[in-house]
Amino acid sequence: MSENETTMETAILDGKALSQQIKQEIAAEVAEWVAQGHRKPHLAAVLVGNDGASRTYVDHKVKSCAQVGFTSTLIERPADITQAELLDIVHGLNADDGIDGFIVQLPLPRHIDDQAIIEAVDPKKDVDGFHPSNMGNLALGLPGFVPATPAGIMTMLERAGIETEGRHAVVIGRSSIVGTPMSLLLSRSGNPGNCTVTLCHSRTRNLAEECRRADILVAAVGRPEMIKADMVKEGAVVIDVGITRVEDPTAKRGYRLKGDVDYNDVAPKCSWITPVPGGVGPMTIVSLLRNTLAAAQRGASS
Ligand code: NAD
Repeated sequence: MSENETTMETAILDGKALSQQIKQEIAAEVAEWVAQGHRKPHLAAVLVGNDGASRTYVDHKVKSCAQVGFTSTLIERPADITQAELLDIVHGLNADDGIDGFIVQLPLPRHIDDQAIIEAVDPKKDVDGFHPSNMGNLALGLPGFVPATPAGIMTMLERAGIETEGRHAVVIGRSSIVGTPMSLLLSRSGNPGNCTVTLCHSRTRNLAEECRRADILVAAVGRPEMIKADMVKEGAVVIDVGITRVEDPTAKRGYRLKGDVDYNDVAPKCSWITPVPGGVGPMTIVSLLRNTLAAAQRGASS
């Protein structure tokens, strides 16, 4: 190798390890909160129907509550619940002083209007950060609940000490729960933040070309392994949000979880990369716990 040549070292953004560390920090804060005479923070989750992935997510959330010393309540209803019945549950949770925050796990069955449910949640208990008033606060840079997945990614960048200021971030996917809030957070003034952001979506022309301009690439699409090495700049930070169950008869559960990034192809080119699983997913849950603790603390002081 000549003197000027360097080898690219890829570091893994280990969301699993970081989430365990942050859970310990939250548990310590909860213990202190309870020692001051407050009740434990209480998160409720509403799960409608029998979608396997949704059940797995909710189970993880409930388990994580126990790990940090929260109380949790799981409300399960069959897929044929009416919208009016679901709205009644939401109104009940809004009015329940014993609940600090709650989530209604998405997606909901087709006959239910997701947006009507989201808008019925009291913004003060909206720990998913999906209510228009929380989204509006995010867009304006005002305090409020930030959706858990983008918030978890920001924590990852911060804890890894990744410089974002002035860098070009490309976010693929414009959903209201991941891509759009992610693009807002990265462009906001702050650290991490202060990026120049390009938001790509299904109608973007020359996606590969846009991606190659990214110092920080966030893929939130849900198309397994769509990001290949020739779409990534040498030394980029690559954050893979995608989680898709891909059938695999050799796997214990009959499927494997695949990200949007072809990890083996892309990783050698990156400075940092998140694995799937064990990257963004665990950080999402940690952000939900943080939001719930904040809701409990705000509720107690109001
Ligand atoms: P979504 O279906 O709501 O949005 C997908 C986005 O991808 C859309 O904005 C669409 O315009 C864009 N898109 C579709 N095809 C495209 C293409 N060919 N090129 C460029 N853009 C394209 O999905 P979502 O809810 O934002 O979730 C995205 C992925 O992230 C899914 O795999 C989901 O399971 C996963 N997810 C993971 C977590 C986590 O905690 N890790 C949390 C939420 C979502």
